[in-house]
Amino acid sequence: MIEKLRSNVGLVRERIAASAKRSGRSADDVTLVAVTKYVDSVVTEALFQAGCEDLGENRPQVLWDKADAIGQPDLKWHLIGHLQRNKVARTAPITSLIHSVDSNRLLNSINSVGVDLGRPIHVLLEAKISGDEAKHGYDEPGLADALEYATSLKNVHVSGLMGMAGLGLEESETRQQFAHLRELKEKYASQSSANIELKELSMGMSNDFEWAIEEGATIVRVGSLLLEGVLSN
Ligand SMILES: *Cc1c(COP(=O)(O)O)cnc(C)c1O
Repeated sequence: MIEKLRSNVGLVRERIAASAKRSGRSADDVTLVAVTKYVDSVVTEALFQAGCEDLGENRPQVLWDKADAIGQPDLKWHLIGHLQRNKVARTAPITSLIHSVDSNRLLNSINSVGVDLGRPIHVLLEAKISGDEAKHGYDEPGLADALEYATSLKNVHVSGLMGMAGLGLEESETRQQFAHLRELKEKYASQSSANIELKELSMGMSNDFEWAIEEGATIVRVGSLLLEGVLSN
C-alpha cells in the first residue's frame, strides 16, 4: 500500500508543480492537503509516511480520533468541513488551520479558545462561490462583515479564504468561480490588520486542483486522487 501511495503522491505533486509553473509560481507556493476522510487511521498514517505532512478531515470528531491514534509530531491537521461551536475547544488545539469558518458566532468561539490557549488560532473564512444555497460559507456582504468583525478578535488569525466550486461544471465556469474567490481575496487583502492577513486561497480538489492553482490557489485539498488503487471501490 505504501508504495502505491508514494507513487500517487509523486504524481499529484508533479501535476501541482506543472500547474504552479504555468501560473508563474513554484511548487513550494502550493500546499497539498491530503484529504483522509475516506480511510481509517492506518491508511491515514501511511499517507503521512508516503510524504503528506498536511492532512485534512471534514469531521471534527474523526480528526480528534485520528490525531489521538497517530502520534506523529510533524503531522499538521486541517479541518476542512463544518465546525460546530461546541467542538471548537477540542479541535482548535490540535489543528494547524481551520479552513471552514462560516459564521461570526463561530469566529467568536474560536477566539475564546485562542484566549484560553494564549495564542492565535489560524483560520480561513469560507466563502460561498458556487451559488449553491445548500453549501456552507459566507455570502459576499457576510464576508465583508466577518472581516470587519474579526479585527477585534485578537486570538483569531485570519490567513485567507476557502471555497468550493460547484460540482460537475464546465472548465470555464469552474475557473470563473475560483477567479471570483481570488478577486475577493485581492479586494480585502489591503484591509489587513495585525490579525488579518489574507494570503492563502484554499481551493481545488481531485477534479479541479490544476485549474484552481492556475487561478491562484495556495492550498489544494486532494483526497480521492491520492487514494486511487487503495480504496476498495
Ligand atoms: C472531500 C473533500 C475534499 C477532497 O475531495 P476529493 O474530490 O476526494 O479530492 C476537498 N475539500 C473538502 C471540503 C472535502 O470535503
